[in-house]
Amino acid sequence: MIKKFFIALTLFFSVYNNVFSQTIIQSRTYPKGYFRYPLDLVPATAGTFGELRPNHFHAGLDFKTNQRTGYPVHAVFDGYVSRLVVQFGGFGNAIYITHPNGYTSVYGHIERFAPAMAKLVRDEQYKQQKFEVDIKLSCLQVQVCKDDVIAWSGNAGSSQGPHLHFELRDSATEETINPQLFGLTIPDRVPPTITAVGIYHLNGNPFSEKTPRRFLAVTGNSGKYHLKNPEIITLSGAIGFGIAATDMNSTSFNHNGVYSVELKMDGETVYTFAVERFAFDQTHAINAYIDYPEMLVSHRFIQKCFILPGSKISLYPQSVNRGIINFNDNRLHHIEYIVKDVAGNVSTLNLAVKSAAEPVSPDSYKPSGVLFRYNQKNEFTNDKVKMTVMPGNLYDDLDFIYAELPKKPGAFSATYHIHNRFTPIHDCYDLWIKPDSTIGKYTDKAVIVSTTGICEGGTYQDGYIKATARSFGDFYIKLDTIPPLIVPLNIRNGGNMSKARALYLKISDGISGVKSYEGKIDGKWVLMEWDYKTRVLSYTFNGDIAAGKHIFELNVSDNKNNNSKYTAEFYR
Ligand SMILES: [Zn+2]
Repeated sequence: MIKKFFIALTLFFSVYNNVFSQTIIQSRTYPKGYFRYPLDLVPATAGTFGELRPNHFHAGLDFKTNQRTGYPVHAVFDGYVSRLVVQFGGFGNAIYITHPNGYTSVYGHIERFAPAMAKLVRDEQYKQQKFEVDIKLSCLQVQVCKDDVIAWSGNAGSSQGPHLHFELRDSATEETINPQLFGLTIPDRVPPTITAVGIYHLNGNPFSEKTPRRFLAVTGNSGKYHLKNPEIITLSGAIGFGIAATDMNSTSFNHNGVYSVELKMDGETVYTFAVERFAFDQTHAINAYIDYPEMLVSHRFIQKCFILPGSKISLYPQSVNRGIINFNDNRLHHIEYIVKDVAGNVSTLNLAVKSAAEPVSPDSYKPSGVLFRYNQKNEFTNDKVKMTVMPGNLYDDLDFIYAELPKKPGAFSATYHIHNRFTPIHDCYDLWIKPDSTIGKYTDKAVIVSTTGICEGGTYQDGYIKATARSFGDFYIKLDTIPPLIVPLNIRNGGNMSKARALYLKISDGISGVKSYEGKIDGKWVLMEWDYKTRVLSYTFNGDIAAGKHIFELNVSDNKNNNSKYTAEFYR
């Protein structure tokens, strides 16, 4: 019965898709009719492919599961299980299936693996004596057929509510691809919503928080949008545009991401963006796509319609002059935004622009600090601080500002202003800070921390503490001599645990973070599972522990090798 309903549903969607998908931007076509939906539920999304998330473009579809866990998850096509992952954050539990047609499907945040996979995972956890495992499998180990139940949906890892995260990847390149381009469409007759436009006066300078910008409110409906207070905008010199837009579909009220943004001037395309496919090592370039300083200040996502020169992500199919337009001909121009969802629903917004009369000579760029080039290795050194930013980590040239600030109480160095948080780093850079001589023998406990509380780690190297930092900001040296905290939740020394389903303890570490933990019962390693959201560590009794007296022992270490130990006798 469910299957019949499902076939009808699939037919309906494929007809629907053929009607509406003709006009969307894509570099190639993808095979349709192979993959089924991973759940038996009517497909509804809590998140779409390419949706804007903190520090990443969303890499798949988030299928809603009625705010519950435990729905059967099906293999979307024949194939073999190529990878099984258990991790503390991220997907929590994930299955990767490699299919014979060149694609790999990924299922994340699942609650439980099907029995054959659950056994493989558990055996590997006991073999490695670790909760977190990443198991690569050969094509001979676990084969699956389309429709097989491979797992039950969940809320594991860094998920913010029960759902199934689903991806389709190119097996050869590992690029992730919009699953809706494979015919796994979501019913959608609702065009995108546009809420604001941005105008950036670049004028030959690199983009930064100092770029003069203006945001204009937008209103409209049913695909037709206009400025809330209509005006003819006067512009001169090199201008970049931006837009704030979201999309809803017919099956849920979530504000998801749009599929494409196109910018035209006088009918000619100057810029396109489309969430078709991307490589994971480029996903941080979302911070080059959005107005990153504006997101930090106001928490809104303005999507820039011009491309920063250091962004390498494959989401910009077409652009002229990186989308930057020069206004200098004393004429009226017509700017048009065309925003689409993946079903092909369109929203448009038109602006009337009066161009300046004279060619504007760009401000000659005068950095007040040190000029860092986005495409070069950049170094900064004095007698207290060293830093190196390798090519590929800046999205644009940077006026790098350094300063020495007063020392904080308890610090083992002054605070150093290493530019500011408004310029994003793609991956990381190396930072060395010289500690005060009072640090004495504690160099192995030293870490570099930011004034916002982020610990970047630290190792002692030739008179400096070195860290690999992920953002700019104000940094200083601090010691971590405090061992991790262990709080037993349902166990106490001499306690009766004969009716308990599991042992629960909460673990945490204030500065450098928990590095490892190890639980033992009567001297034998046992599997302790660590929950990302609650930070609760648990051992589930599974019949291995006989009635009588036992000794439980837990050791926890932080990243600076401070150790805590908890022991208790209990009765089963
Ligand atoms: Zn997701």
